[in-house]
Amino acid sequence: MVRGFSAEIRRVLFIGIVCSVIGITIGYLTWALIIGGLFYMAWMFSQIRRLDHWLNDPHQTPPPDASGIWGEIFDRIYKLQQSQKKEKRQLQHLVNRVQEATSALRDGVILLDRQGNMEWWNRSAQNLLGFQESDQGQALINFLRQPRFIQYFERGKFAEPLDMASPRSQSQRLQFQINRYGSQEHLVVVRNITRLYKLEGMRQDFIANVSHELRTPLTVLKGYLESIEDSGDLPDKWQGAVGQMQIQTLRMSALVSDLITLSKLETDESEQNQSPVSMQDILEPIINEARALSGSQQHSLELSGNNTVRIMGNANELHSAFSNLVFNAVKYTPAKGQINVTVKLDEKHLWLMVEDTGMGIDSQHIPRLTERFYRVEQSRNSASGGTGLGLAIVKHILLRHDARLIIRSELGKGSTFSCRFPLSKIVEATR
Ligand code: ADP
Repeated sequence: MVRGFSAEIRRVLFIGIVCSVIGITIGYLTWALIIGGLFYMAWMFSQIRRLDHWLNDPHQTPPPDASGIWGEIFDRIYKLQQSQKKEKRQLQHLVNRVQEATSALRDGVILLDRQGNMEWWNRSAQNLLGFQESDQGQALINFLRQPRFIQYFERGKFAEPLDMASPRSQSQRLQFQINRYGSQEHLVVVRNITRLYKLEGMRQDFIANVSHELRTPLTVLKGYLESIEDSGDLPDKWQGAVGQMQIQTLRMSALVSDLITLSKLETDESEQNQSPVSMQDILEPIINEARALSGSQQHSLELSGNNTVRIMGNANELHSAFSNLVFNAVKYTPAKGQINVTVKLDEKHLWLMVEDTGMGIDSQHIPRLTERFYRVEQSRNSASGGTGLGLAIVKHILLRHDARLIIRSELGKGSTFSCRFPLSKIVEATR
């Protein structure tokens, strides 16, 4: 630019000198300088016009020839244009590569704008959901009209994926995982999980069938063992063995019945049979049963709080969940311990808390307690008669009631198992 400027200054000086010489020669110095200045300005305007023409040229031809400062301006702009073009080409190449890569994915990918309209999708999404070119710009919920998807999308909580039948074929199962990016745009990943879903179904059927098949032989065994014991003519040396056989058949029956309960909870996806139920009606019989279970151990069991509250739920399932927690408190609390069952209402939740002064649980075990067959070592060794399935059942039932199980415990001091329900589950409450 410096060279251009000095050339321009030289040009202005040259015009000035020439005009001055002519002006002095003809005796009109001022007019000669004015005319020279006007010529220079006209030339400047003509350069600006050329620049404007060139910039507006859609074919982006090379810049026109120019000298001095204008030559440098044209060259600079041309170079800028060229480097921008190069960057654009590189960016386009990158975008094309990303699109090619996502097209090769087996999972469907859909990009949504802030309003939830479809901006772009890959080939797999097209195959899975049947989109067409003309669908661009349409709202995704116009294609996925199932109430479950609409609810999931509008709730905006995408921590867990959503599994549901494909809108194109009931036999195909799809999993939708939505991620937010940029400024409230969404990236939807659609996965075909039909095979996994079928395998899971086979696993559930297998467990349900085996459990049912085991029921009959167990009932026969239990019956014969009871008859042998009742007959009174059992030799002394067999007394212990028959007693053990009875304990083990009882344990197996408990296992089978817990497995049947779990597989029923797993296979029945809907939240069927939910109706207003009173916490008191569910909890009072459980407390009485727990007192019977405690027997000579004489635990002190107390029910308190807002137990007149009524919630939307399945009475049988809630009975099963709460009784598991209360009976566990009895099983894992030494004789004469205190067990408090409290119903509490706060600003955001309804709580059912089962608090005991029992053996407590080491914090390392707490995250795994709701896994099937997970039992803390001490209880495994003790004769508590547990199956290790109780808390898995509780977790499943609570999930079906939009509730969560929260466990707090201190080794040697006791535990609190709390069921936390959203207020939306309450039908009627008095504080
Ligand atoms: P189980 O049939 O063995 O009781 P659960 O699934 O009900 O199976 O419980 C899993 C494990 O959690 C138990 O084996 C026990 O170690 C521990 N547990 C459950 N409730 C309590 C409690 N109130 N106090 C101490 N430990 C508990």
